[in-house]
Amino acid sequence: MRVCVALFTADLRLHDNPVLQAALRDAERVVPLFVVDTGIRRAGFVVPNRAAFLADSLADLDAALRERGGRLVVRVGDVVEETCRVAAETGADAVHVAGGVSRYAVRREDRLRAELAGDRRELRVHDASLTAVPPGALTPSGGGKDHFAVFTPYFRRWESFSVRRVLPAPDAVRVPDVRSADLPRAESLAAGSASPGLPEGGESGARRRLRSWLSGPLSAYDERHDDLAADATSRLSPYLHFGCLSATELLHRARSQDTPGAHAFVRQLAWREFHHQVLAARPDAADHDYRPRHDRWRHAPKEIEAWRDGRTGYPVVDAAMRQLRHEGWMPGRARLLAASFLAKTLYVDWRVGARHFLDLLVDGDLANNQLNWQWAAGTGTDTRPNRLLNPLVQARRFDPDGEYVRRWLPELRHLDAGTVHRLPRLDEAGRAGLEGLDYPAPIVDLETAAARFRAGRGVD
Ligand SMILES: Cc1cc2nc3c(=O)[nH]c(=O)nc-3n(C[C@H](O)[C@H](O)[C@H](O)COP(=O)(O)OP(=O)(O)OC[C@H]3O[C@@H](n4cnc5c(N)ncnc54)[C@H](O)[C@@H]3O)c2cc1C
Repeated sequence: MRVCVALFTADLRLHDNPVLQAALRDAERVVPLFVVDTGIRRAGFVVPNRAAFLADSLADLDAALRERGGRLVVRVGDVVEETCRVAAETGADAVHVAGGVSRYAVRREDRLRAELAGDRRELRVHDASLTAVPPGALTPSGGGKDHFAVFTPYFRRWESFSVRRVLPAPDAVRVPDVRSADLPRAESLAAGSASPGLPEGGESGARRRLRSWLSGPLSAYDERHDDLAADATSRLSPYLHFGCLSATELLHRARSQDTPGAHAFVRQLAWREFHHQVLAARPDAADHDYRPRHDRWRHAPKEIEAWRDGRTGYPVVDAAMRQLRHEGWMPGRARLLAASFLAKTLYVDWRVGARHFLDLLVDGDLANNQLNWQWAAGTGTDTRPNRLLNPLVQARRFDPDGEYVRRWLPELRHLDAGTVHRLPRLDEAGRAGLEGLDYPAPIVDLETAAARFRAGRGVD
């Protein structure tokens, strides 16, 4: 009887899972394997918020497999050693896995291929698992470039790519007799407590959110996604990050709705894929400037601390940072203005901010986080790298009634929108006139900051 292993990584789902489907086609018995990878833990990538989401997702996956007569097999240790061990114990002749884009994933794949080959077993890598368009499938015509460095031409080609069809969830999964560790609990994966407003992980939750998103809010996405108070984005990012939801299925289902909202949403999904193809081609963009600008970043520990704590004196930036801490998530507009504030207004190395985001974001993802940070800092793929976002203009535009700010900054709840927007411009006497104000004065003057940034970067 043929046996093979389906190694789950960032594809924790049964619906539209090419890895699992291929394994089931290949063999009568399949080991649905997840390895709690101690290597990733040591690298500091498992933090309480993502650990909690991961633990939920694994429990949900195990329950879904049990409904189909199977179960999730869990091992703890080095992912390559454990996978090879399980393959040997069960006599599996192949291991199926999704192709990744980070250095870590590529190294894991190379090591797995070599180790398995030594044992006369095969590694089968499925590229259309984590993104709808596999990284590397599209390259600019002529010039021998291996990836797109600018979004718009990428998007044009991406739109006409023929995306594979959606695969059904399997009806039955037959697992050979093999030892499994217990499902991990969040506390055993990472020390520390998760954010109180964290969403629940897992494919069931992903599918519920997908249904409610498609059945209404999606159609207004084009008009409302930047409205900070409206909370009108999909919040699907953590499910995409852990693969509880397939990017391919999401794309097909969004495309089936021919509305301006759906078109705008599909464009955002393309950004995710754009960043993945950049990181796949340039793995060192995770920690090196994609386009070096010879910045002389400032050393500003007190300002960094104020930014992390949401105490910069710029209400919209502070609201974003408090939401991050409370929910492990924030909408794209909030991420952008908080990142721009650190990297350009405070002129602090984007890596400092990216690390803080990765410490808290439940969807914290090397491709999306690092490359969006680089975009915001002007060291990445932004075609206007030296523009500065003014937090006062951003606040008036994207939170005109000050509702988002008041939601996340309780100390400003008693103020009307006009006062909230004016607050950073008030002098000492103006602030003294506001009764019971317990909120810091701005840590930086915007004009001074803009001049400092331009001088540091050597631009007019
Ligand atoms: C500084 C910074 C850091 C970021 N870090 C991450 C991160 O670690 N993980 C992450 O998934 N996203 C990250 N993003 C991208 C984006 O902000 C989030 O994906 C989005 O806000 C998640 O909310 P949503 O699911 O409601 O998005 P929606 O607005 O509903 O968009 C749908 C999906 O499109 C994709 N998407 C949207 N905007 C972007 C974008 N700018 N880049 C890439 N994909 C996008 C996401 O997969 C998202 O789930 C970051 C953006 C910035 C500016």
